[in-house]
Amino acid sequence: MIDWNEFGFNTRAVRAGQVRTEEGEHSEPIFATSSFVFKNAAEAADRFANVSGNIYSRITNPTVRNFEQRLASLEGGERCIATSSGMAAIFTTCLGLLKAGEHIVASQSIFGPTVSLFNQVLSKLDISTSFVDLTDINSWQAAIQDNTKILFLETPSNPLIDVADIAAIAKVAHANDCLLVVDNCFCTPVLQQPLALGADIVIHSATKYLDGQGRVLGGAIVGSEQLVGGDIFSVFRSSGSTMSAFNAWVFLKGLETLDLRMQRHCDNAEALAVWLSEQAAVKQVYYPGLKNHPQHELAKQQQTRFGGIISFEVADQAAAWQIMDATQIMSITANLGDAKSTITHPATTTHGRITPEQRAAAGISDGLIRISVGLEDVEDLKNDLQNGF
Ligand SMILES: *Cc1c(COP(=O)(O)O)cnc(C)c1O
Repeated sequence: MIDWNEFGFNTRAVRAGQVRTEEGEHSEPIFATSSFVFKNAAEAADRFANVSGNIYSRITNPTVRNFEQRLASLEGGERCIATSSGMAAIFTTCLGLLKAGEHIVASQSIFGPTVSLFNQVLSKLDISTSFVDLTDINSWQAAIQDNTKILFLETPSNPLIDVADIAAIAKVAHANDCLLVVDNCFCTPVLQQPLALGADIVIHSATKYLDGQGRVLGGAIVGSEQLVGGDIFSVFRSSGSTMSAFNAWVFLKGLETLDLRMQRHCDNAEALAVWLSEQAAVKQVYYPGLKNHPQHELAKQQQTRFGGIISFEVADQAAAWQIMDATQIMSITANLGDAKSTITHPATTTHGRITPEQRAAAGISDGLIRISVGLEDVEDLKNDLQNGF
């Protein structure tokens, strides 16, 4: 067996985890089978007893395992569990690490459905959440209670692209016997590796950049063998939020080009952010690559580049909708991390289910537009927005 950790990032992104079968296939095969056959009764008994090897595709599948091992290697984690979606990854992690009566401290600027999961679903299980300012380290410390078990954040955040100091928040977590869970969706391991900065668990919505072409849904949980392979895997195997073999294969192909794509997303976003900040109709641009971004220096240290998501503010909802409706290239859709640029009005879509008070607390105004900058020619993207200005 090759120890992939001796190789560079891109070599691992293309090859880690592949176990070629006797057929000699070059590309990774899709194991479209729900169950696996045992040589004899004793082998069946052994696999069920040890939950090792292939039993049933809800629990293990070779194509899914290949994706898990490749992503674990890229994130620098020992173990990965692939899930049916990013939300399934967050839900499974929370059920694995928390029990009734316990408490989460989460950044207030996280993905809208994650807020709903914490406030409306986990609350039914008597798991409560306090929301804090992502960038204010004191607010994290102040919100920790005796029953707090998890600190949860996304950085950069959605949709305001605030940057959290992962290493500092990990220290606060560990000083209080808590675990730090980081949703690394916006950066991917190309731009940021939270485990190396002290986080305990990395979450992915693979639906976004890991696929990168907007085709399938998936998620992942990465961390130590003890955490991810222990309590989290126990919940996973009994709750069925499994990634399909086909989707795992799509994500394997996505990982092969992840670095190339992320570099181009960053090139285009950097150019578009500078151009946006020169437009009269734009009140503010939120992008950590701009020198006036409050966490520009932190982003420079913590990330290799600044990412492909930009938000900007215009006068009001009418102005925002006018710009969106005038575009011909950009897709009006909530997805992000796609080769195709997407444009979103967070207040009435991704963050429409949270209360106006929660939106105001998170700084999401009615004039805010989020763009996931794709791989098109950046001059065409500028012209596309110019129409609406
Ligand atoms: C999309 C997204 C999720 C949820 O992922 P799904 O695959 O849609 O379930 C979680 N976190 C962030 C930051 C996201 O953008």
